[in-house]
Amino acid sequence: MPVSTLAADRPVCDELEVLGRDVQVPLAAGGEIGYAALDYAASAPALQRVWDDVAAYAPYYGSVHRGAGYLSQLSTDLFENARTTVAGFLGCRDDDQVIFTRSTTDSLNLLAAALPPATRVFVFETEHHAALLPWEQRDGIDVTYLDAPRTPRQAVDTLEKALAARAPYGPALVCVTGASNVTGEIWPVQELAAAAHAHGARIVLDAAQLAPHRPVDLAGLDVDWVAFSGHKLYAPFGSGVLAGRADWLREADPYLAGGGASRTVTRRPDGGVDVAWHTTAARHEAGSPNVIGAYAIASACRALTDAGFDTVVAREQELIARVRNGLADIPGVRVLSLFGDDADRVGVLSFVVDGWNSSRLAAALSTEYGIGVRDGLFCAHPLVRALLGGAPDEPAECGSPVLAPAAGGSELGAVRVSFGA
Ligand code: PLP
Repeated sequence: MPVSTLAADRPVCDELEVLGRDVQVPLAAGGEIGYAALDYAASAPALQRVWDDVAAYAPYYGSVHRGAGYLSQLSTDLFENARTTVAGFLGCRDDDQVIFTRSTTDSLNLLAAALPPATRVFVFETEHHAALLPWEQRDGIDVTYLDAPRTPRQAVDTLEKALAARAPYGPALVCVTGASNVTGEIWPVQELAAAAHAHGARIVLDAAQLAPHRPVDLAGLDVDWVAFSGHKLYAPFGSGVLAGRADWLREADPYLAGGGASRTVTRRPDGGVDVAWHTTAARHEAGSPNVIGAYAIASACRALTDAGFDTVVAREQELIARVRNGLADIPGVRVLSLFGDDADRVGVLSFVVDGWNSSRLAAALSTEYGIGVRDGLFCAHPLVRALLGGAPDEPAECGSPVLAPAAGGSELGAVRVSFGA
């Protein structure tokens, strides 16, 4: 199968060399084989350059913001410079805030916690659960779930119709994905942002899958917020970003209460305490921050910028074509798609094979060929069910092999291959 050679390919440039390219894994039949990492959409391997940057900084790191010592000052500079680098990478406007979080999930939950009371939220059913679920966790937030569109144009029309039908008062937020973690298809973000704004709504972009593959230009796309994860952008686990408009964030209660978020805390005569919270990004970054994580994200942003997205996109299109052509040669393979063959897509692709249980197929790819893929419903249950033609609505765990029935031949769940440049 041609996909098995993908991960052995060298990257297009030194900036994109990843760790673990030469890892050997055991095969069920005995012996070892070079691991083919084709699960970048879950977590991309860290770039060698990011690893080197972190290793070079590690002996010097110290607590940020409050320390007077040299290493604390140095770390504070590096932490704040990381914020500036990320702002540049995302094309932020001057007054946008960049908040370091733990992940995309954390970023979107933070934004959900910061929504003004009674915000109406509009979200396509096709979203990853990280973008689908946080909104309803807030009391008083009304969520409209939009049906899966079958063309990018239909996505815009569906959103416009839903926004027009809402009572034209009060705050509204649209949440959209930049690129699907199931099909890899790119969504018409700029058009959706224009539709949202035309109807007085704001828009947040889930760029978890877009940011590693395409430039994200907040100002150019006219998107209000963007969220992404470091571990999908070739940095290690544990750090993410929410960037965008400062006003809702500044007015919201701090995401976590504690040191760092509070400017002054004073005892009141009645025995209570008064707190003045920061109005900067620090308001939502209480506690000692993940300085190394922020530094690693900034390093990955610099590496991608240096490599150039033209290079990244060209290389990925080559790889996507190879995978699609290879799969087209295999009888019974169906590639999952909402927008059809001509859709613009990143290096993420899911498929089912007639007569094959996806979970067993994924296991066989691992144990017989050393190819690491993912199977299941990819934390996007409504989308995968829609793509598979209304598979039974039984309980399913995120990304778990239990999604696949024991007997072969069912399509409940798919196999996903994903890669980078
Ligand atoms: N959004 C999309 C499109 C994703 O693919 C993922 C993860 O797969 C997430 C959000 C959540 O990312 P994280 O698990 O890093 O919070």
